[in-house]
Parts: sequence; structure tokens; C-alpha cells
Amino acid sequence: MGNIERILAAGNNLSDSDLKILVNKIMDRLNHEKAFASSVKIVPRMECPVCHTSSHVVRNGHKHGKQAFLCRACGKSYVTTSNTLLSGSHYSSDVWKTVLADTLMGVSLDDDLQHIRISHTSLFFMRHKIMLALEDLQEVSPAMVEEVVEADETYIPEPEKGTKFGPDAKRKPRKRGTPASKRGLSDEQICICTAVQRKSGDLVVKSENRARPSTEDVVDIYTGHVKKGTLFLTDGMNVYPKLGKVLGLSVMNVKKETGSFFSLNTVNNLHSFIKNRYYDYRGVATKYLNRYNMVFRAAYRMRMSVDELAEKLFLVRDPKRVHHYDDVKELNMFAV
Ligand SMILES: [Zn+2]
Repeated sequence: MGNIERILAAGNNLSDSDLKILVNKIMDRLNHEKAFASSVKIVPRMECPVCHTSSHVVRNGHKHGKQAFLCRACGKSYVTTSNTLLSGSHYSSDVWKTVLADTLMGVSLDDDLQHIRISHTSLFFMRHKIMLALEDLQEVSPAMVEEVVEADETYIPEPEKGTKFGPDAKRKPRKRGTPASKRGLSDEQICICTAVQRKSGDLVVKSENRARPSTEDVVDIYTGHVKKGTLFLTDGMNVYPKLGKVLGLSVMNVKKETGSFFSLNTVNNLHSFIKNRYYDYRGVATKYLNRYNMVFRAAYRMRMSVDELAEKLFLVRDPKRVHHYDDVKELNMFAV
């Protein structure tokens, strides 16, 4: 018997839930290898940031270990990272790319420090600047799902990172990975709304508040991100038909239909992916939730290689894309 036959034979003894775990592990492994398979190199562009042309640009020695350039047309002197996300960074684009890859793969900051020799603080800011850049990318090319889309909410226990548990705290600290103490939905649970296109794996993912989403919440989350006429499969929660009216979608409740087409397997798979990533990151502060949601969007089914994504994040010259300390601490916080 070959390896595959042996594994399939062993699989006959597995329960459905164990089979699902196995499939998720295999998908994670495939995603991981795909992410590292690309061999495209980041090529620093040297157009003048003022004139936007390279016809008068010459090399002008090195500054902070980076190639410097001089534009003879306007006199501007600059390094390769001027006006990019990497502007002012002491680290090479290769280090940034490693941080990006690890962020997408769900490597925790502590584990990252084992193989990248930089300080915890520097790494924290690099990771968060990358997440801000993913948000910027979403601004310029917003998620747009169409055709067959599966939508559902998932709930994660409120991450506790950064929370102090004094004698006045309303509940005791919880060990990571254990379920919230109250049954069902409670104020310890945070809702993430998700809609994933079955075929492409592109998705809309956002958190608005803790509890079940209201009609206003889903309208706010999905407006501009789901194409008119989309077949929107749900589990029948009453906010979705209302959303369908607003956005012009064909909303169907899979529980009322028969046949394997009417399933929420894709969105359930996405929810397992999100929960596994949360576990891998070892908890993230609640206020950064929507930043991490952008990471999940980029990492799920990896529709782009790390190099392609790095180019879109690191090489775009736009002063609005240069994020500093205050942005990391203040921009787009999730407040509940
Ligand atoms: Zn110039």
C-alpha cells in the first residue's frame, strides 16, 4: 500500500470532527508552502518621489546602509524607502518581508523574536505598521465578493492581552484557549461578521460590537463589498433578508433547502481558520481586532504570494502610507 492509501484507510476510523481537524491541518500546510514558494525579488524602485520619473536619477552613495539617489532635475535626494511604509526604518526590506510572512502565518510575536534579532518593541511596531498598510490596501482596493457567497458570524472569547485583573475586575482572568465562563453569547464574546466568496475565497471580515449584529451593523459592514445580485447563503438570521433588500442580494437560508449546494462549509472553514490563528497569535488586544481581521483576509487561502503582497505594501510611495507611532496607537481602534 502506498502512503496515501494507508492514510485513507486510517481515515476510515476517524470521526467527522477529527476528519475536519485533519482537513484544516492539511489546508494550513498547503497555504504555508504556497506562501513561501514564490521567488520574485523585491526590486527597489528609484523614481524621483517629486518628479515621478527616473530619467534624471543617479545613484548618490549610501545613507543608513541603503542606496541613496539624487534627482538631477529637481535636486531631491532620497533613499529607496522614501515615502514608503519602510521610510525611516533601520531594517532591510528582507526583514520586513519576514515579519509580513510570519504575521500572515500566525506566528506570535514571541516566537518571531526567536529567529528575528530585533527588539520586541521594534517588532511590535513593524507588525502593526504592516497591519495598517493592509487597511490602507483595503481602502484603495476594497473587498468585493460576488456570485455564491456564504455569510455567518463567529464569536471569539474576548482576548485579554493588555487587560489588568485587579480585585475590582468583573471576572477572573481566563487561561488562553479555554471557553468563556458564561454559556452562549455574553459580554465576554466578540462577534466577527464574515462573508466569503465560495469560489475565490475572497472575503469581507469585520467586527462591529460584542453581541449579535443588528441590521444596521450588517448593512454598515457589507455595503460596498457585496455585488448586487449575489447569491447570499446564510443560516437564516433575520438581519440577512433585510440586508438583501438594501443591497439587492438573493438571500437564502440553507436550513430550508436540501442538497449539498446549500451549505455553509466554506464560511465554517474560514471560522476554524480565524480561531486557529487567534490561538497561534496567543491572544491579541481587543482594540486591534479589525487590524487582525485584515490579516485574516489577506492570509485566508493566500490568493497572492508574500512577494506580491510585500510589493503592494512596502513599495507604494505615498506620504499617507507612512505610518508613525501615533498611528499604531490610535488609528481605527475597535472600541466596545
Ligand atoms: Zn525629481
